[in-house]
Amino acid sequence: MKTALVTGASRGIGRAIAEKLKKLGYNTVINFYSSKNEAEALSENGFFCVQADVSDMAQVEKMFAEIHKKLGRVDLLVNNAGIALKQKVFLDVSQEEFDRLFAVDVKGVFNCSKLAVNDMLSVGHGKIINIASIWGDEGAACEACYSAAKGAVIAFTKSLAKELEGSVEVNAVLPGFVDTDMNAHLTNQDKLDFMRSQGLKSLSTTEDIALAVEKLVLSNDTGKLVKVYGEHE
Ligand code: NAP
Repeated sequence: MKTALVTGASRGIGRAIAEKLKKLGYNTVINFYSSKNEAEALSENGFFCVQADVSDMAQVEKMFAEIHKKLGRVDLLVNNAGIALKQKVFLDVSQEEFDRLFAVDVKGVFNCSKLAVNDMLSVGHGKIINIASIWGDEGAACEACYSAAKGAVIAFTKSLAKELEGSVEVNAVLPGFVDTDMNAHLTNQDKLDFMRSQGLKSLSTTEDIALAVEKLVLSNDTGKLVKVYGEHE
């Protein structure tokens, strides 16, 4: 049985992806950071849950050591863990906010990919799917730093796919707006404005993102960026 690791899978999009991969037959490892109660419930539901702050390489190394001991190498990595800043104008973003954003959203992808690629190259194959954002491609006002972080993830995806072609497949899913805790501070009007700006009649759901991940898992694609907006009018 192959092993999949989904980072930041205690809630939201990551959790939907983990459930999908479990259904596909993967031994699915859920990484979490602060949601201990959710992780306990998921453990009772057949997931192996491991706590680690993905921005901290020492913690990521410990997580991989635990996975190796329990399940062996990681065959599929979904880099989903991420944070966003509350929407604010660029001049209001502090250095600390910028550093933490890049530590989790970019360095976290670097840290987990580094150890996963090591596992994958030991057998000559594997898959990495990065959860970026449409803002990383299109840019968004009052989201300059988040967009830049996700833009870095997109460039990393395209570059690593070229470097590892023939062994590890590297792809990304770029969600639009998904109703999760990450967006809890946004109003209904904000959601409507987003839908109008993109010509949408509905928003994408965590299940839509999980389905996009499933499609990539079942394909041989590499270097692919899959945008998931919701339903167009
Ligand atoms: P969410 O509901 O806020 O969940 C975030 C997840 O990331 C949680 O499981 C959290 O774990 C984990 N996490 C946060 N910091 C972490 C860290 N340092 N180390 C390990 N795990 C950490 O967010 P979401 O909406 O599901 O977003 C998931 C991904 O999709 C993110 O990369 C996000 O940028 C991207 N995305 C989301 C949207 C959207 O509209 N929601 C759109 C585009 C892209 P704990 O709960 O255990 O702390």
